[in-house]
Amino acid sequence: MSQPLPSHTKVAIIGSGPAGLTAAIYAGRALLNPFVIAGREVGGQLMTTTDVENFPGFPGGVMGPELMTKMREQAERFEVDFLEENVVSIDTQAKPFSIKTESHSLTADAVILATGASAKWLGLPSEQRLRGHGVSSCATCDGFFFRGKEIAVIGGGDSAMEEATFLTRFASKVYLVHRREEFRASKIMLEKAKSDPKIEFVLNSEIEEVLGEEKVSGLKIKNNQTNEVSTLSVEGVFVAIGHQPNSGFLAGAIEVDATGYVVIKDDYHTSVPGIFVAGDLHDHKYRQAITAAGAGCAAALEAERYLARKD
Ligand code: NAP
Repeated sequence: MSQPLPSHTKVAIIGSGPAGLTAAIYAGRALLNPFVIAGREVGGQLMTTTDVENFPGFPGGVMGPELMTKMREQAERFEVDFLEENVVSIDTQAKPFSIKTESHSLTADAVILATGASAKWLGLPSEQRLRGHGVSSCATCDGFFFRGKEIAVIGGGDSAMEEATFLTRFASKVYLVHRREEFRASKIMLEKAKSDPKIEFVLNSEIEEVLGEEKVSGLKIKNNQTNEVSTLSVEGVFVAIGHQPNSGFLAGAIEVDATGYVVIKDDYHTSVPGIFVAGDLHDHKYRQAITAAGAGCAAALEAERYLARKD
């Protein structure tokens, strides 16, 4: 941003995925001059996705990062300002609301929360130690490093199928390791992975340890039917086991459910009047770019109405 950072804004939008950026387009076009606190991972989860084939308007599909760049450019047409920092805390009792980012403080009459969700990890010490050294949660970011190598993808949902299929572009072999025999993945994505000659399914199997000192050399896995423990020799491990909401900074400030998703009271309003939510931060059911964008639109319209009533 070339202009000085504002000390007050009518609408602060926290997050810059499809929900946040759509909210920004709508609030910008309503002449609210919204301030987007975009986070350190600008663009959200779609920045680490490849082909998006189900976002209407792109008959040939569109790459995730390209879609997000276009959404941001569209928002920037309407006097929307951006700060690429994370929010540290928000005081929802203060009026106007008070927001602290890593380097800045400002107040806002209304807030749209759209910080989305992040990849889940298995929680093994060896997994954390080898993150960035062969363990990854982002095939698009890191697949390139595994050209001609054998790797494993963990999970049984659409993310795992998508990552495994994508990684066959680089890897010589992809083991799809899943803890059950049934899959959450959609039929079409499961069949695509199953029919790929480079993908081998390793089922009823749990990861006990990621092996390797300085970089990944294998996976210690246990078959949960036979209790047999074996080693899978791989140089890369992609963990694709779902996501958790990025709601840590909201602790105590707003009502969240047992798993951390923000609770919606009515029409995208949270438990605090004047604070709205959109996208994966509350939606653990659909979690699609298009539903997040739709929710961002609705939250912005609700914020606009709230401000009009308040004035
Ligand atoms: P998901 O559907 O929740 O699947 C998570 C998978 O990881 C499940 O198979 C689960 O096993 C496994 N898992 C979870 N915790 C685990 C652990 N601690 N150890 C081992 N395995 C574990 O998540 P997702 O695949 O990220 O998909 C989320 C949503 O995004 C879905 O609605 C999906 O359709 C959508 N999505 C769509 C696309 C697309 O259309 N291009 C791509 C990606 C995602 P269990 O089944 O045993 O619980």
